[in-house]
Amino acid sequence: MIYLDHSATSPVDPKVFKAMEPYFVDSFGNASTLYSLGREARKVMEENRKMVASLIGANPDEIIFTSGGTESDNIAIKGTAYRLKDKGNHIITSNIEHPAVDETCKYLEKKGFNVTYLSAGEDGIVSVSDLQDAITDETILITIMHANNEIGTIQPINEIGEIAREHKIIFHTDAVQSVGKIPVDVNQLNVDMLSLSAHKLYGPKGIGALYVKRGVRLEPILHGGGHEKGIRPGTENVAGIVGLGKACQIAKENLEETEQYVTSIRDEIIEKVLSEVEQSYLNGHSTKRLPNNINFRFKSIEGESLVLHLDAKGIASSTGSACSSKKLEPSHVLLALGLEEVDAHGSLRLTLGKENKKEEIDYIVKSIKDAVETLRKLSPLWCQVEQ
Ligand SMILES: *Cc1c(COP(=O)(O)O)cnc(C)c1O
Repeated sequence: MIYLDHSATSPVDPKVFKAMEPYFVDSFGNASTLYSLGREARKVMEENRKMVASLIGANPDEIIFTSGGTESDNIAIKGTAYRLKDKGNHIITSNIEHPAVDETCKYLEKKGFNVTYLSAGEDGIVSVSDLQDAITDETILITIMHANNEIGTIQPINEIGEIAREHKIIFHTDAVQSVGKIPVDVNQLNVDMLSLSAHKLYGPKGIGALYVKRGVRLEPILHGGGHEKGIRPGTENVAGIVGLGKACQIAKENLEETEQYVTSIRDEIIEKVLSEVEQSYLNGHSTKRLPNNINFRFKSIEGESLVLHLDAKGIASSTGSACSSKKLEPSHVLLALGLEEVDAHGSLRLTLGKENKKEEIDYIVKSIKDAVETLRKLSPLWCQVEQ
């Protein structure tokens, strides 16, 4: 199988798995206990906190372990909204956020907060001047993702952060897709909070972290035994934390090399597909995008059929469209770019990883070309016909 869906999840690096293994059976201690087994767990947890902090230029005491990206986003957004509700009730975000941010903002709207969804425009990049115009005396939080999970666009986070700081507004970014793929430094980015998740960078599922800058206070959304400074109580997932730490360490060691390698595969696939497949387009920005993200659009094609055709050829990919499943609408991200529904249905996302090989490129391109031609012959636009 050729796995091209790393933005959905990545395989666990064997070195990560090996590092985690002892913490299930032998070194199983509760990190909050006093005897040596517990103290050992605490020690290893703190060592791994340093590795996470080191990848993003943070201090270890600014890292809160969570169950993943979704929880980090919820803690950051609800925690700030509840904490600062007497100061203001306005939140600014974008119209291309991951559901973990988007749905949290929608929930807060039901609870009386006002939310501005900035338009990412045709190229999928939020405009800094739009942001500036959206700020009011009531604005308590800005939450804008670092890199988009569907189209891979990278937002001007450091500029947004400067503006947030000038206005003394808390700024959170969902960096789940960027951490481990491009350089991420919390100080350079001017962020107060940043979400990351292990399973998007060769770590295990169900573990992540929230960076919370010193001095930033949050109202907890979970209550319990006071772990993780009371921001995220619950017995620590020591094995998961070791997996996250190791994944961050490996990512840091190989960041530049992997970035260049993956970019070269990305660019070759893009170039070949755009030149060999008629009426094919690239969604998102041509250069301000993640090294591993490709998002094509094919005229008169239904993305889901394309994914199934590629699966039959041993290629795992994804699409923003899902006509025959419960979700009938095309992706909100592709619609946010201004695409017509019918065109948004024809998207194909390929997200690469370090284990993909250059030798696979020609097979991938040929498979896409063949699948598109077959589908166009069979039943163009069946999505539209169905309506
Ligand atoms: C995957 C993802 C999440 C959710 O992370 P989980 O660890 O799966 O909860 C949040 N934001 C973005 C941008 C993602 O890609």
